[in-house]
Amino acid sequence: MAVSLPDLDHVRYLRAALALAREAQAAGSAPVGAVLVDAQGQVVARGRNRVGEPQSADHVGQASVAHAEMDLFFQVGEVQNPETLTLYTSLEPCLMCGGASALLGVGRLVWATADPWGGSGRLLRWADHPAMQHTEVVPTPDPALEHEGALLFAPEARRAFPDEGWALWRQHYPEETAGV
Ligand SMILES: [Zn+2]
Repeated sequence: MAVSLPDLDHVRYLRAALALAREAQAAGSAPVGAVLVDAQGQVVARGRNRVGEPQSADHVGQASVAHAEMDLFFQVGEVQNPETLTLYTSLEPCLMCGGASALLGVGRLVWATADPWGGSGRLLRWADHPAMQHTEVVPTPDPALEHEGALLFAPEARRAFPDEGWALWRQHYPEETAGV
């Protein structure tokens, strides 16, 4: 838990997650990326959204569950010493990915940009769920990267989310959604 976690440079790893998000977008998927970092600050896995790409032997794909974090977790396989790991994502994880992170016991979860519609951050320490109590959550630690991530994801939020989801995005990120 918190005692096992090193002091890491959040900005450095969130930039890496955002770079993977742009890579996903260029490949025809949704712009979301993730990196898993160990206690020594080494990146042990990289993932990105692959919903718009074919399934392959190496990567989950062509499914609405082919999110960046799941791509990463499937590459890692069995997670060793999860309490020492930090997962960085460009966008606040959804219920599936936040739930997977919490159930795997990942020590810390850091995201660049909030997802006021689909984000699960507020549920990761679900009071009546004993398995969901050990992941430290660090939302949007850097305002410039939060802005960058919101600009990057806003068109996808408008395309993919229902009207009430897009309305929440416009309310939360008025500047970043203004031109979308
Ligand atoms: Zn997800």
